[in-house]
Amino acid sequence: MIPIVKKFLSMQLYTKILLALVLGAVFGAMFNVDRDRVRIEYGPEREVTTKDVRKWENITVYAKNRTWVFGASEQDALIRNIDRLRPSERRAAKIEVTKIDRQTGERTMQVYENIRSVESVGTIATAIRPIGTIFIRLLTLIAIPLVISSLIVGATSLSDLSKVASIGAKTIGYYVITTSIAITIGLVAANLIQPGIRMPEEPRERFIAEFQDDIDARIDEELEVNIVDQIVNMIPTNPLNAMAEGEMLQIVFFGILFGLILTTIPRERAEPVIKVFEGIMDAMIKLVEFVMKIAPYGVFALIAATVGEFGFDILGTLLWYVMAVILGLLIHMFITYGILLKSLSSMHIIHFFKEIRPVQLIAFSTSSSAATLPVNMRTAEDKMGCSKETTSFILPLGATINMDGTALYQGVAAVFIAQVYGFDLNIAQQLTIVLTATLASIGTAPVPGVGIIMLIIVLRAIGVPEEGVALILGVDRLLDMMRTLTNVTGDAAANVIISESEGKRIDVEKVKI
Ligand code: ASP
Repeated sequence: MIPIVKKFLSMQLYTKILLALVLGAVFGAMFNVDRDRVRIEYGPEREVTTKDVRKWENITVYAKNRTWVFGASEQDALIRNIDRLRPSERRAAKIEVTKIDRQTGERTMQVYENIRSVESVGTIATAIRPIGTIFIRLLTLIAIPLVISSLIVGATSLSDLSKVASIGAKTIGYYVITTSIAITIGLVAANLIQPGIRMPEEPRERFIAEFQDDIDARIDEELEVNIVDQIVNMIPTNPLNAMAEGEMLQIVFFGILFGLILTTIPRERAEPVIKVFEGIMDAMIKLVEFVMKIAPYGVFALIAATVGEFGFDILGTLLWYVMAVILGLLIHMFITYGILLKSLSSMHIIHFFKEIRPVQLIAFSTSSSAATLPVNMRTAEDKMGCSKETTSFILPLGATINMDGTALYQGVAAVFIAQVYGFDLNIAQQLTIVLTATLASIGTAPVPGVGIIMLIIVLRAIGVPEEGVALILGVDRLLDMMRTLTNVTGDAAANVIISESEGKRIDVEKVKI
């Protein structure tokens, strides 16, 4: 045992994280949450009783003057529906469990009243989730102080305003172009593979019924993308509030403005302020180093809990759709970024993809570009030779607005849903997808699961039923991991290219390769 532990500890960080990811997936699959078991908590205040119910034929819920019936495979829908009831509605609800004895065919019925909760029964794989949550929280906690301090310090050294404007315009232009390329690849993949046409009738109806209420709740959310509003909203009215709320674009705006203004006041006044932010930045970078030491354990717990909880049985039915998204993402990542890096930078592509691996693994396991940002920034500076000034501008902006993976996924998903519903999208509609998915991806927050909500905007724009999102909700977690991985890779490639074009990158790989 001890030699194995020693060997593990002496491995490279990337290998450790990869191993943790694979072992986590296996562990999660071994300790999968039982799909045919729920724990019902019921009874009056002082006599709350817990009962594990297994292998039911039907569970009927009477609540709010309505009756819902859930079959043997509908654990998720049952739990979600009970969760949505208010506590008082739950108390007034009644649950009837019907079982059929396989041998005798005898039917039994059990009634539960005064319901407190209905939950799935966790396993050891889901129980270790807090370790993963601690890891994500640590990374997220670093992100804001790191971004603000490095932007301020960076901007003080970029005192030339025209230079800031040039990097800004270049970065935004580059991001919009790569995002449009990504969606186009997604559209081509979806039109060639035609995943919607290959989807069988039965699961289609089942998914729509199962996720209906969930989707209704999402559709009700106010969703709109408006470029003018987005630009106006970039300016915070209260910078501390922007930091408290994690409004990344507002933070980027304030950091640059503050840094630039600092250079216009007398040096002796500015110096102490700059020193403070330099100190904060150094401390945050040190903290990333420390947090990355526990990354393998965090990743193990996150993946084990995700696989344990969601399982991937639903994958089979949606295989073509999942394949179209993943194929599109891989093409965009290796071909588009590969060509761009090769033609617009002197960085060796292999070196880029080698160094970006730990960043990708963190993005994959956290599904959050924001949580991955500190690691991405450190890698850019330490391993890719990008300067602090450009990195601290390009990467935070990229994590916020540049989501190639999300946009590509939205393109495939929109075509998939349209195909399932029998819509034939014409060129104008496909162009509308390019436009709205670009805007929707810019508006997507860099945290887990937002891309699918913004997809509703795209569907609305092309007149495809929004409820269709129900079809793909079951596999969204896996695709979120994949698209986040692509999102952060796109940011890193942009940083290399733009930093180099500004003369702010040194050829670290020449020393190494
Ligand atoms: N999870 C993605 C990210 O953080 C956003 C999304 O597509 O849901 O980059």
